Amino acid sequence: MSQLISVETALANILEHIQPLSTETVTLLDGLDRFLGEDIISGSDIPPFANSAMDGYAVRTSDLATASRDSPAQLQMIGQVPAGAMADQPVRSGTAIRIMTGAPIPVGADAVVRFEDTSENQPPDLPLHTGSLISVYNSPCLGENIRFPGEDIRRGQTVLSKGIMIRPQEIGVLASLGVERVSVIRRPRVAIIATGDELVELGEPLSPGKIRNSNEFANAALVKRYGGEPICLGIARDTVIDLQRKIEKGLRHKVDLFITSAGVSVGDYDMVKNVLAAEGEMHFWQVAIKPGKPLAFGLVRGVPLIGLPGNPVAAFVAFEVFARPAILKMAGSVTWRKPSVMAVLQEPIENSGRRHYMRALVRREGEAYWVTTRGTDVTVQGSGILSSMVWANAFLVVPEGTTYLPAGSQVRVEMLDWPEYII
Ligand code: AMP
Ligand code: MG
Repeated sequence: MSQLISVETALANILEHIQPLSTETVTLLDGLDRFLGEDIISGSDIPPFANSAMDGYAVRTSDLATASRDSPAQLQMIGQVPAGAMADQPVRSGTAIRIMTGAPIPVGADAVVRFEDTSENQPPDLPLHTGSLISVYNSPCLGENIRFPGEDIRRGQTVLSKGIMIRPQEIGVLASLGVERVSVIRRPRVAIIATGDELVELGEPLSPGKIRNSNEFANAALVKRYGGEPICLGIARDTVIDLQRKIEKGLRHKVDLFITSAGVSVGDYDMVKNVLAAEGEMHFWQVAIKPGKPLAFGLVRGVPLIGLPGNPVAAFVAFEVFARPAILKMAGSVTWRKPSVMAVLQEPIENSGRRHYMRALVRREGEAYWVTTRGTDVTVQGSGILSSMVWANAFLVVPEGTTYLPAGSQVRVEMLDWPEYII
């Protein structure tokens, strides 16, 4: 029997064999939620030219050094410049050009005075007569209400780094740089194989002793959630030939990763072990984690395989802890830590001393997060009780070596999601 290894050791071992996949280019919007495949270096200044931050008048500050409400300065309006156009003349001393937000600052002007600080009351889109006099009620600073070229992004600057997730704001920045197609890391193709003689496909009748194959669907959903493309290969019966066939099929589909469930616990892993060992180098670990202790990992003809336990919650936990980082690393992410918060424990907890991923519900009261596990009872925390995963929004991670946590303890919880009611 192999020895108990830590979660960190197991994960480090897995990740050592996982590398980011190659890149592909997609149209900008299809880059959403993907990982950027290259550094993005700006080829231009954003904004590209000095422009007005306000609707107002482009002026020379030297004309307005003493202007105030009580003693306004008078300037002659000599023209207008809307966004998208260029002024056809400079601002000379004693003059001003009406300017709209986003319009280029005319030559000679060094500040913009908002309409609100002038005698202009009309909506800005009503043109005044060229030549009219306007009063200015304050003395702007040099550069006031001017947006300078490159103040957002400088030419030559690395704006986005390889490996970041492309969110709507990155899409916006890429669009502002004129990027039509973006390089992203390929989505990992992940084969899902459920193993077990007791499993029945959805849509087939259940007979005595049989159960539904839920792991395949939960695992496929997790693969999708973390940016992979699930390739469901169905149920492999507990025979050497059946499992071999599924693996061959996966290899033909050119998958980047295999995820199997079940068949790795003490009672029955020998069959799986023999099959996998024949195909490559496999390890069968007992990880110091609860639930999810048995775990297989190895390479099947060069393709990594993660063998999750069979019990649905053990499989789910092991997926989150081991398969998720592997998928994210393949997909090009440079980070795979789960978002976590500190919360106040509602009830006391006893623990075996293994790291325990307890299903938990986090809620917020005032400024504090509270967490309940509904206790350690197997009807809630048993590794086959999938319905309590539905109730849970987090894992309370009881650290290894901790055998007791009193109510009121500050504990770390890893969020499965962030429902609106806890924000
Ligand atoms: P095993 O690791 O093969 O001993 O399986 C452990 C437990 O997980 C057993 O109760 C299995 O029936 C159950 N199990 C295995 N595979 C699945 C699956 N695909 N969906 C739901 N339960 C499963
Ligand atoms: Mg089995």
